[in-house]
Amino acid sequence: MTAQPPERNIRPVWHLPDELRVAVLASEEVAERRLQGHLMSCEGCRRPLLALAELMPPPSLAQGPADPADCPSVRHSVILYIEEGRSLSSETIDHLSRCEDCGDLFLEPAISVTRTDREEETTGGL
Ligand SMILES: [Zn+2]
Ligand SMILES: [Zn+2]
Repeated sequence: MTAQPPERNIRPVWHLPDELRVAVLASEEVAERRLQGHLMSCEGCRRPLLALAELMPPPSLAQGPADPADCPSVRHSVILYIEEGRSLSSETIDHLSRCEDCGDLFLEPAISVTRTDREEETTGGL
């Protein structure tokens, strides 16, 4: 008989450095890459990202480009969502599904995490 491992639900609070968040809100490319790298490898961000990927509407529903003026507030909302579990407004979800930059930033890591999750399921979770 082996004991079940404890549920992995430890989520660090506000673990993204301030300077990184500020730079991401300002659309600094280096910071965006750092954040993507973090999202793809961080155990704490994994769960909210998986949930985020599921919230996204099918691409066919997206209409027209998003307004880049909304990017900073949308990024801020998504960071709060990841860090504190705040809910996302439909406007935020709509922007994410239409904005190429914000989509790259949050949805690409989300899709990559979803893929890894599926692979782990099929291989029995090494
Ligand atoms: Zn993280
Ligand atoms: Zn955007």
